[in-house]
Amino acid sequence: MTYQTVNPATGEVLDVYPNTSDEELRALLTRAHDCYEGDWRHREVEDRARVVKAVAAKLRANAEEYAQYVTLEMGKLIAQARGEVQLAADILDYYAQRAAEFLQPVSLNERPGCVVETRPIGVILGVEPWNFPYYQLARVVGPQLMVGNVVMIKHASNVPQCARAFARLFDGIDGAPEGIYTNINASAAQVAALIDDPRVRGATVTGSEKAGAAVAERAGRALKKSVMELGGSDPLIVLEDAPLEAALDNAVWGRMNNTGQSCVASKRMIVVGRKRGATFLDGLITRMRALRVGDPNDPATTLGPVSSDSALKGLLNQIEVGCAAGARVALGGKRVDRPGFFLEATILTNIDSSNPLYTQELFGPVVSFYVVDDEDAAIELANATPFGLGGSIFTADIERGRRIADRVESGMVFINHPTWTAPELPFGGVKNSGYGRELSELGFAEFVNRKLISVSPAGSPPPSVSQAG
Ligand code: NAP
Repeated sequence: MTYQTVNPATGEVLDVYPNTSDEELRALLTRAHDCYEGDWRHREVEDRARVVKAVAAKLRANAEEYAQYVTLEMGKLIAQARGEVQLAADILDYYAQRAAEFLQPVSLNERPGCVVETRPIGVILGVEPWNFPYYQLARVVGPQLMVGNVVMIKHASNVPQCARAFARLFDGIDGAPEGIYTNINASAAQVAALIDDPRVRGATVTGSEKAGAAVAERAGRALKKSVMELGGSDPLIVLEDAPLEAALDNAVWGRMNNTGQSCVASKRMIVVGRKRGATFLDGLITRMRALRVGDPNDPATTLGPVSSDSALKGLLNQIEVGCAAGARVALGGKRVDRPGFFLEATILTNIDSSNPLYTQELFGPVVSFYVVDDEDAAIELANATPFGLGGSIFTADIERGRRIADRVESGMVFINHPTWTAPELPFGGVKNSGYGRELSELGFAEFVNRKLISVSPAGSPPPSVSQAG
């Protein structure tokens, strides 16, 4: 884990950043914990909201600068980087606005005098990926700070400037105590040591199954709550009755947004009907061939680089192994002949169930394309993956779409829309895509103490034997 900025559009190493030392890490954890115990957890929700709103406002005010860091470090198209900055600010505002309502005590009508309060639990550790460098942080920071927890973030090692820029949002904010937000450049061993520390009360990972399993195992051993937002290989099913052009436009957006590097990208396209399958494939090839490779800072570019040399090599290797096992390249499949980490927009067909690609996640601009005969075959194929994050169904018959949605094994299904995200939509998966939810009220409830307060009149007699716990 070397923290460095490498421009994926050129391959140039621009900056290298040191790891946080063990000693510094201990001091930062002490500061975070002191902030939690001595200050942040006791604040009124309105007071916390003022701080989180001010952070969102600062992000909006500096949107262009912040978008530039994203494009520089992970190669996102500049228009999409600007969109991400807005989305991250929206998430912070959403929690600042809604927290008072989410924190309302719940009275238990069956038991007069009993209420359940929502209380914070302490320092929460976030391990975050590079693909949406601010959105991923906002998903953790918004709810955790508003509930009264404080956060320490280990961001991905290829986006250190984004990580530092996000931390700077808290500098100079009126009423923001030192220690509510801490950015660390930590190794896997340091993450493990933090999880073991009794002052860290929960851990959340967005990333690969491998990273998730490492952190979940450690948190499990330390009996700490964890949330896992891991990989996905979302199906996009196109039924016989779906308007084809709209399905195609959505499919290309769903797959190619963020150069295909989204956990909820429409990675596997499944079209029902042989004839429509052929027509859909033609339309897909036309649209993906028209994408324009170039500098992600140029507004005319529609296909940027993938995030790193290793990401590019990994994808090329998956394509090569998949083709050796019988897959056919219908479009692209090769590195673009220019500096930087560019992969051609790629469509793979003829992937049968013995092909490794059948169950793998392809984290880049690569479509796995399938044609099936009927709805049942589409659902079987949709579920033939270890993942279960999102999924989409395109159909003119909404009731049929709902019935199929019920049979797709995933945490989210969108009918006539690619999987996407908004502050008020719960986000998360099942199977190897992880557990727990981010965003919405559900994301607010992951690292809290649902505390029962039971009040009996002074002088009450002890419980009878049948009431004892
Ligand atoms: P990754 O290697 O797992 O990296 C994600 C984060 O985990 C980084 O900060 C990384 O640090 C850290 N990490 C890796 N191994 C670790 C360990 N043993 N202990 C502690 N931290 C560790 O993920 P990636 O391959 O870059 O990102 C793509 C994956 O994330 C895909 O599978 C994608 O689907 C998934 N993802 C899921 C969601 C979701 O919400 N479900 C969202 C986005 C991405 P270093 O950078 O220092 O290695």
